[in-house]
Amino acid sequence: MRRKTVVANWKMHGNLASNRQLLEGYVERLSSLAHVDVVVCVPYPYLAQAQLLLKDTAIAWGAQNLSKDPVGAFTGEVSASMLRDFGATHVIIGHSERATAYCESDENVATKFMQAKVHGITPILCVGETLIEREAGVMDLVVAKQLDTIINTYGASVFADAIISYEPIWAIGTGLAATPVQAQSMHEFIRGRISALDEAAAQSVKILYGGSVNPQNAVQLFVSQDIDGGLIGRCSLTAQEFEGICRAAN
Ligand code: PEP
Repeated sequence: MRRKTVVANWKMHGNLASNRQLLEGYVERLSSLAHVDVVVCVPYPYLAQAQLLLKDTAIAWGAQNLSKDPVGAFTGEVSASMLRDFGATHVIIGHSERATAYCESDENVATKFMQAKVHGITPILCVGETLIEREAGVMDLVVAKQLDTIINTYGASVFADAIISYEPIWAIGTGLAATPVQAQSMHEFIRGRISALDEAAAQSVKILYGGSVNPQNAVQLFVSQDIDGGLIGRCSLTAQEFEGICRAAN
């Protein structure tokens, strides 16, 4: 039985004062939840703050991106070992907002995935289709291609103990979540694709759902067999709403 995981993705929101309030709210509201793993992925400058405020709690912290390179002349980049210096245990990789706004390729995403793994950071790999792709009925093909870039380069075993987040792009920040049936069906497809190559990795990989999860729809999504928790954008920005989602997972 996989423990549920709920990940907050703050995106580019917050400041020192509001973060402190939010993190203190998380700690106060979530510390009694013993059956869910909670991770908060903050903007880079606030990793030190997350480390300071969360270090003696059960809440883990991480980043929203990392460099594909380990070290060197890469102005503006942040390496996996730098994330480790600030106690980061998780990193989001390949979020669709990065693919769209910064032209991130599947190949870069695969390299970043391995950078995280070799530095002992749990990668949270985002996959998902656009609305046009869903309407054309090719969502499985799209997600398979995203997974296969990693599988063909590094093998399916790299998914052992990793996290994949299925994030249909049409559901992110739109208020229009996938139905539990749509989400479960894609999660089953993802697990099946890994299972065909490495059953142990398929059983240990956590597959989260992301896209307009809120305290009202969370239970319905999280009861599905292959949905191991959620990646939460908007509703992670208020402690009360995030608590509602974490309670649903708990
Ligand atoms: C996300 O940013 O990954 C996300 C799922 O956002 P939201 O919860 O706001 O849809």
